[in-house]
Amino acid sequence: MGFHCPSCGREVYIRRRKRCEFCGAEMPLSLRLSASQLAYILRLKSDEARRGQEPAEPEPHATPVNPDLGSSVQETAPC
Ligand SMILES: [Zn+2]
Repeated sequence: MGFHCPSCGREVYIRRRKRCEFCGAEMPLSLRLSASQLAYILRLKSDEARRGQEPAEPEPHATPVNPDLGSSVQETAPC
């Protein structure tokens, strides 16, 4: 099973190389890794993304309380 450089089209013998040994073009991950390795990495990435997108703990209902306003209302309330 041969792999070819997407840039120069030559067969790549050493797939682990980061760059093509002929033209120096950067090798895509899909060329350098086997399908199972690539799937593993993609799964890891998707797991990370999912964890990052998880919504934070929702804040408990914070009812805006103005203690100053409350006390002043009580003070000015007629007896
Ligand atoms: Zn090349």
